[in-house]
Amino acid sequence: MKKVVKFGGSSLASAEQFMKVGNIIHADEDRKFVVPSAPGKRFDKDTKVTDMLYACYDLAEKNHDFTSEIAKIEKRYQEIIDGLKLDLDLSQEFDKIIDNFKKKAGTNYAASRGEYLNGIIMANYLGYEFVDPAEAIRFNEAGVFDAELTNILLAKRLEGVERAVIPGFYGAMADGKVVTFSRGGSDITGSIVAKAVKADVYENWTDVSGFLVADPRIIDKPQGIEMITYAELRELSYMGATVLHEDAIFPVRKAGIPINIKNTNAPQDEGTWIVGNTIQKSKYVITGIAGKKGFASINIEKDMMNAEIGFGRKVLQVFEEYGISFEHMPSGIDTLSVMVHQSEFEDKEQKILSGINKAVSPDSIEIQSDLALIAVVGRGMKATRGTAGRIFSALAHANVNVRMIDQGSSELNIIIGVDNDDFDTAIKAIYAIFVETRL
Ligand code: ADP
Ligand code: ASP
Ligand code: MG
Repeated sequence: MKKVVKFGGSSLASAEQFMKVGNIIHADEDRKFVVPSAPGKRFDKDTKVTDMLYACYDLAEKNHDFTSEIAKIEKRYQEIIDGLKLDLDLSQEFDKIIDNFKKKAGTNYAASRGEYLNGIIMANYLGYEFVDPAEAIRFNEAGVFDAELTNILLAKRLEGVERAVIPGFYGAMADGKVVTFSRGGSDITGSIVAKAVKADVYENWTDVSGFLVADPRIIDKPQGIEMITYAELRELSYMGATVLHEDAIFPVRKAGIPINIKNTNAPQDEGTWIVGNTIQKSKYVITGIAGKKGFASINIEKDMMNAEIGFGRKVLQVFEEYGISFEHMPSGIDTLSVMVHQSEFEDKEQKILSGINKAVSPDSIEIQSDLALIAVVGRGMKATRGTAGRIFSALAHANVNVRMIDQGSSELNIIIGVDNDDFDTAIKAIYAIFVETRL
């Protein structure tokens, strides 16, 4: 058996956390490939090392002095080294980093040093080989991850390697220029490594005992999910359940490697299994609820628009011209709404409105801002009647005004639009009707 284990930032935020991780790795000799994140928050108001690096590089780029900022970062690592009583000196590494910051090595390079340094410490602590992902995780010249080439290079690099530490979050272009994934991207690295070494399991260790039915910051002690499919998980993580990066399932999905989300602070808990398919029913009709705030809706009205061929395309083309992707597009006979991220839309608002006016001469255009989208996801919904109705009545009882509803054709999810202010109330109401009352 071969297991790839990825540890998130909070699992590696201090020497104490490192020791828990060491115990977990030593408890199972199949845990051969370790993917660490950068040190995360030690307490609620703490700052992640990745964020400290971004801020520090920002100063460097503006030619400001960053001595005290980099010293704070060095101190975080030194505390871990001292706490673990390691014979390791990172001062030369820091000299190199400072030098490269002064040479404007780039934001991606700067951010990547968080996992790079943590990887060096982890390899030293475990006595495992250190493998720099810049050698084998490849991005093309446009900065896009090259999955196929990476798999070849990494499989070759790890051939014959019994145990290794491979830092998360970054890789490099052919010329060696470092590129990072988007935030939370160490999850993707874990998945890439699992595929390359043909692992039996990809364990993703974090600070919760698996995927929960809803965000624990909104619902007090939500129920856990024992088993979830890749498809369900993608819907939920895309919609804000950030436990696992939404792109982390692609490498393992094809290879059929299951992911097990586990808790570093409660390793005895089974956690959540993420699998391709299962005949196991979820405990409730729904598997999970997630959501995001900050959407705007552009509602276009025109009599007989449904008879006007190309109407939708012309509208969407305006958004495309301004580089805005749309999230949802519910429509009626004479109305069409386009939901977009408010932050992307705000600056270009008037240009887009005039573009739509020119393109399709609508009778009216109305815009709504400060909307939230909530995804109710579950493989069990297909076989159950009246799920949308129950959601509606729960929201009505909670006095939440539903702005939009959209059921995906796969019947795997129902998306509901509500006002930002109603976000928490809506999630609580949906959770209560499906989970607390077990309908
Ligand atoms: P890591 O640093 O280990 O990568 P993350 O912060 O990326 O951890 O993800 C874990 C966090 O995700 C949890 O601490 C929790 O606050 C948050 N979270 C949001 N939605 C959910 C959910 N549905 N189930 C579990 N955790 C969730
Ligand atoms: N350290 C990176 C971040 O904070 C990557 C990760 O933790 O997965 O986003
Ligand atoms: Mg994460």
